Amino acid sequence: MKHRILVVEDHPLNRELLSQWLETEGYEVTEAEDLKGALAGLEGQKPEAVLLDIQLGTEDGAELATWIRQQPKLREIPIIAVTAHAMTVEQQRILQAGCNACISKPIDFNLLRKQLDGWIGISAKAAIPAALSISETKAE
Ligand code: MN
Repeated sequence: MKHRILVVEDHPLNRELLSQWLETEGYEVTEAEDLKGALAGLEGQKPEAVLLDIQLGTEDGAELATWIRQQPKLREIPIIAVTAHAMTVEQQRILQAGCNACISKPIDFNLLRKQLDGWIGISAKAAIPAALSISETKAE
C-alpha cells in the first residue's frame, strides 16, 4: 500500500509541483491549502507524514504542528516544515512548535527525499520532535 502524505501549501503552483513530485516518488497525496483544509486532511485515515508550508497566507503553519502534537491520535505523525525563511531563529521556532525537520525554499528535492525516507515508517514515538521530548532531532 502506498504511503500517504498530507501536503499543506497555500500557493497553488507550489502545491501542484510538490504533489506531482511526491506521486512520482510513489506516494499518495492529500492536498490542503490552509489550516482548515489541513484539519480535514487529518480526519479519517492518518497520513504517514505531513509536509507543511509555514507561510500559509495570513496563517501560521507552525500552529498546525503544535495542534497535532496535542492530539493523542495524531501526535506521532512526522512533520516536515518548508519555509522561505533561512534564519536560524525562525527554524528554531518551527522545530519548537512541533515539526521534526525544517527545509528551506526553494526545495532541494534530494534533501526532501532523504527526509521522507528518514521519517516515514520509523517507530511512532521517535517522531515526536526534540523540542517536545528527546534531546536531538533526526537527520539533516
Ligand atoms: Mn506559502
